Amino acid sequence: MKLPFMVSQNNGAKAAPRVLVVEDSQDDRALYRRLLQDKFELVEAENVQQALSIAAVDGIACVVLDHDLPDGDGIGFIHELHNRRPDYSPAIVMVTGQGNEMTAAEAMKAGALDYMAKSSLTAGSIERCIRNAIDHAALRHENTEYQEELEKSCRGLAEFAHTASHDLKAPLRHIVSYCGILEEDFADKMDDEAEQYIRRLAVNAKRMQRLVDDLLAYSESRAITPDKELLDTNAAMCEALEFMEEAVEECGGTISLGSLPVVRVYPMRMKRLLTNLVSNALKYRREGVPPVVHIDCEEREKDFLFSISDNACGIAPEHRAQIFEPFKRLHSRDKIEGSGLGLSICREIVEMHGGRIWVESVAGEGSTFYFTIPKS
Ligand code: ADP
Repeated sequence: MKLPFMVSQNNGAKAAPRVLVVEDSQDDRALYRRLLQDKFELVEAENVQQALSIAAVDGIACVVLDHDLPDGDGIGFIHELHNRRPDYSPAIVMVTGQGNEMTAAEAMKAGALDYMAKSSLTAGSIERCIRNAIDHAALRHENTEYQEELEKSCRGLAEFAHTASHDLKAPLRHIVSYCGILEEDFADKMDDEAEQYIRRLAVNAKRMQRLVDDLLAYSESRAITPDKELLDTNAAMCEALEFMEEAVEECGGTISLGSLPVVRVYPMRMKRLLTNLVSNALKYRREGVPPVVHIDCEEREKDFLFSISDNACGIAPEHRAQIFEPFKRLHSRDKIEGSGLGLSICREIVEMHGGRIWVESVAGEGSTFYFTIPKS
């Protein structure tokens, strides 16, 4: 995208920025000429169509735009220019009649960078206004470029993490299965020390498998997705609980559901979000206390507020924000297995829906994880 904030002359000196004045009144155009021709290279148009054909060619740094024009208005011009050249956005200063603040606000919303009342035009004020708008447009352009670069490198990083974790899975699977073969078929050929080493090797390889699976899930949770769909969260939760049945029975847990709504979401991600939170509630249970988990949802004006409450070990106040960061764990791996990625995946999923996630907790008694899903 080329923005001609400064037009370069043959001798290398900076030329005056080219400013397009769109004004149907001959007297007013003469006024602009008097006020601006020493400072800028002026180009003039009398109506929207003329202005569009001039502005559509690169080279205009700023458009000084009258609102009322014979074949349309200034705001229509801004929209049409954007339609014709979405990649090109010269600075636009809207000039309105006295007391036309509504029009000015509308113009700013459409993309104008500043506005002035015609009655307050002076050489100083209009020059300042144009120069500020040109600087502002240059910054906006730079910002967009940085943002595009950043998004590109984030996508590259996510793809790299995805490919790397995917490619690690096959060799890891081989390590785990060879450990199994050694343990089962060669036990009588090994002394106790060798057997112990093989066991430790198997435990660590399985731990790494889980980490790789979670990394893969984390990179997938950040990838661009297909469209949202309506999901019955009650049915989705019942389905997820069927898969967890064994784990729930093993620890003597009870899981209850409130009234869960139908929401427009990315279905696979929403299921993972709910499953991650419920399995954490079981995993971090207090010793000797059977887990009790309740999943509920409150419909509010602009969003749905989901809650997953448990009677697990609770989280101290100083750790409540950190646990949503990747790899942050409060429990040692020797006691409870985990990669520290589960809640960061939850946060990614909630944020990609435009919602928020947080936890309220009483250490030693239990926690409630909340997240919102906006309605629109
Ligand atoms: P992982 O479970 O793989 O360690 P998570 O990102 O899911 O990773 O959780 C991060 C940390 O937050 C956990 O290590 C645990 O200490 C704490 N945590 C998560 N959920 C709960 C919960 N329901 N009750 C108590 N602590 C929890």
